[in-house]
Amino acid sequence: GRNAPPRFSVAVFEGDGIGPEIMAPTVDLLSEVAAASGAFGLDFTSVPAGAGHYRDYGVSLPEESMEIARKSDAILLSAMGLPEVRYPDGTEISPQIELRMELGLFAGVRPVLIHPGQGSPLKVAEKKGFDFVIIRESTEGLFASHGKGRVNGDQSAEETLVITREVSEKLFEFAFNLARRRKETGKGPGKVHCVDKANVFQAFAFFRKIFHEVAERHTDIEAQTAYVDATALWMVQRPEMFDVMVTENMFGDILSDLGAGIMGSLGLAPSADIGLDSAVFQPCHGSAPDIAGKGLANPLAMILSASMMLEWLGHEHGVAEMLDASERVTAAVNDVIGEGRIMTPDLGGSANTEAVAGAVLEAFNRRL
Ligand code: ATP
Ligand code: MG
Repeated sequence: GRNAPPRFSVAVFEGDGIGPEIMAPTVDLLSEVAAASGAFGLDFTSVPAGAGHYRDYGVSLPEESMEIARKSDAILLSAMGLPEVRYPDGTEISPQIELRMELGLFAGVRPVLIHPGQGSPLKVAEKKGFDFVIIRESTEGLFASHGKGRVNGDQSAEETLVITREVSEKLFEFAFNLARRRKETGKGPGKVHCVDKANVFQAFAFFRKIFHEVAERHTDIEAQTAYVDATALWMVQRPEMFDVMVTENMFGDILSDLGAGIMGSLGLAPSADIGLDSAVFQPCHGSAPDIAGKGLANPLAMILSASMMLEWLGHEHGVAEMLDASERVTAAVNDVIGEGRIMTPDLGGSANTEAVAGAVLEAFNRRL
């Protein structure tokens, strides 16, 4: 007889601000997508964490939530943090960073793309379009210093940047494998740029040295290096030159926001944080407290993050139908953007969150 379709457990962090508003329709959509496919099942478990939880219970990431996250096949996260809620040292509540560290999610994946003809603040790019991926190392670099920085007698302050061979090797392996998959699926030419500041810092010279070592094992993929300052310039002047870009944590943090900027809207930028056996999928934007509770939040970045989750699960577990489902969800989002009828205010429309998510489901069903 036939085996029952595989089921995957998904831990759901609704978070703060607009988090619950964009998560609810995304989970509904995923349930519909799984039901329509019939080839896989998804079991969602909602877990508390975030700034609101810290304010109410004194802990931002409860151990029970961490346990569920650790055991689940994938993790969906909307956004966490509230401007008025802070740790005693004044830093923002950021369980995302703890999750990354605890689960060893070393590769932060940020797709940066627009289709030719689609609007972008870059006039040059609008004609040709662009499609690349930034891989931000997410567990060390300058963020290794998170919570360990020092202020010395109100006179100086220090943070430490850490690059390890172990994490860098995994990171570059991931980058070359992603470039190969993009090449095989026609999304890119098969090229990886290592982005650093190797001309000034020993830590980055070391980073680059390991990059070249790993590149030797992937001679089918073109290996390039670039300084981060030049990269910022080229992302604006000729973004079409990039395929896969791999960089240190802090540089990746900044370049991903630049990436969101040239895409035109933070409301459209998804991300994935991937480790050896866990992964978190979340939009690049924050909890947008200024528009929370008004039904104005754009759910598309959250939905695109969910699509990345389907792709990752499908790839990891060899379920081709999940790859198809992922492609269809992304195509449905593009249909809705392309039609331009049902959009939230950040994209110039007047529809609410629910209407946009509903339009995606409708477009998805049209593509079945
Ligand atoms: P974080 O520090 O968590 O990254 P942030 O301070 O960068 O947060 P965001 O929460 O990302 O800020 O919001 C930045 C701006 O973008 C705000 O004006 C917010 O309303 C808007 N914004 C963010 N996400 C969305 C969304 N999904 N839909 C509509 N507007 C959004
Ligand atoms: Mg931000």
